[in-house]
Amino acid sequence: MSRRTKIVATAGPACDPPEVLDAALRAGIDVVRVNFSHGAPDEHLARVARFREAAKRVGKFVAIMADLPGPKLRVKMAAARELKVGDDVWFSMSREPAHDGDLVITEPEMLLDVRPGQRMLLDDGRLQLEAGKPNGGRLQARVVVGGTLSPNKGLNLPDTLLSLPALTQRDYESIAVAAKAGVDWVAVSFVRGAEAAHEVRGACRAAGLDVPVLAKVERPEAVGRVGAIVAAFDAIMVARGDLGVELPLERVPNVQKTLIAAARAAGKPVITATDMLDSMRNNPRPTRAEASDVANAIFDGTDAVMLSGETAVGSYPVEAVACMHRIAVETEAYIQQARQARQTVYDPTADGIDGSITLSACGLADEVGATAIVTPTLSGRTARIAARYRPWARVVAVAPTDAVLQRLALVWGITPVRMTPVPAGGDRMATAVKDAFAAGTVKPGERVVVLAGHPIAGGPRFPTVRVVRVGDEGAAVEP
Ligand code: ATP
Ligand code: MG
Ligand code: MG
Repeated sequence: MSRRTKIVATAGPACDPPEVLDAALRAGIDVVRVNFSHGAPDEHLARVARFREAAKRVGKFVAIMADLPGPKLRVKMAAARELKVGDDVWFSMSREPAHDGDLVITEPEMLLDVRPGQRMLLDDGRLQLEAGKPNGGRLQARVVVGGTLSPNKGLNLPDTLLSLPALTQRDYESIAVAAKAGVDWVAVSFVRGAEAAHEVRGACRAAGLDVPVLAKVERPEAVGRVGAIVAAFDAIMVARGDLGVELPLERVPNVQKTLIAAARAAGKPVITATDMLDSMRNNPRPTRAEASDVANAIFDGTDAVMLSGETAVGSYPVEAVACMHRIAVETEAYIQQARQARQTVYDPTADGIDGSITLSACGLADEVGATAIVTPTLSGRTARIAARYRPWARVVAVAPTDAVLQRLALVWGITPVRMTPVPAGGDRMATAVKDAFAAGTVKPGERVVVLAGHPIAGGPRFPTVRVVRVGDEGAAVEP
């Protein structure tokens, strides 16, 4: 794999045909996001099963991420409909339409908090309404910016103070389905504070799902609390769709940089999401601005870039993945040339001796021209904190379980490789090099840095860095 930046793709009908599925995975998908806001539980289960089978066929570790709907208001309607500037539309304040043509939303009681004159934004802010007065169980609103409203689009109320719980009934139901599907990551929408991490972990555990959790940062209050949120969660997403509606659009680029820096400082992965190659829903090529957007997220230091409608419902899902892959490879080559790749502005002591030794290993890899940093790891932690320093050498994470390998698929620069048992009296570091060789990630003659907590299987924990050359059959020989 010559690409370090990871690609997250949203699953949907466009990726369902088996030949598309395989082609999209081969084109570069590392993480599949299943958005529980759309589609039925059976669809999600079937989709996860198909992706798991396809990943086996294609022979790569792919993470499956369940994206919980969160307390997001959505418009429930049977068919798309045109909203024209100046028109009046009516929202039902209950779960059923009071009159034909009333718009029904997922949490109608929230409309009680809306005051006349406040903005009501639909479909990530593409359509804008101005709230009027309630009357007979309905709320009137006037169309300020019109367009086509499709079913299940989001409704944002940026001017309204909302009292919503962190996890809704739908989230609990989604967690049950995610547990059944056996996902690798759970993403929480509309996180407002660090406490949500505790709540979602509890709910997942109760459902028998013990996986890392990601906070989607898309509310203004979450931006202000990003330090605590990054500390409490295992990863974050710069969820620009709702962020750009809830905050003035012009602040999104700055916020993106702030959030990525916060995640990097904590050694936690970060996804940059929404609209990255949006025009590819309908076109085989993106706009120049979109290509630059992907590149700039990589310059900002993101672990992963994400496709949404492009792969869920677009006409060119495979092309979108392939295009993102090419932009990432080109951008990374430029960064490497410009020698901006290794930023050591992060405090390694936050991770104790492991932080210091991973930073040294990254520097060492650069200096000795190593092609890979091979890390035998049980939990994936060593590999993850090494990846934070963005070494040019690939980080080959050699771990024993599918669960750990699949979740590492999200993290920048990491190639997951399965660990074979260390022979009796054997050396964990040498075995890891053999595993990396068997997986085709290192080649004979290459110099690699091996980084491990336990050099000898079963022995004491002596954090160790070793430089070796890959010999015949993947044997570790003198460098
Ligand atoms: P979020 O705010 O969580 O990102 P979203 O509505 O923007 O929600 P995305 O996952 O970003 O949804 O996907 C973009 C669009 O692709 C959606 O608005 C929807 O029209 C479509 N889509 C996504 N997933 C599915 C699905 N499983 N089935 C059908 N359509 C889907
Ligand atoms: Mg969202
Ligand atoms: Mg979206």
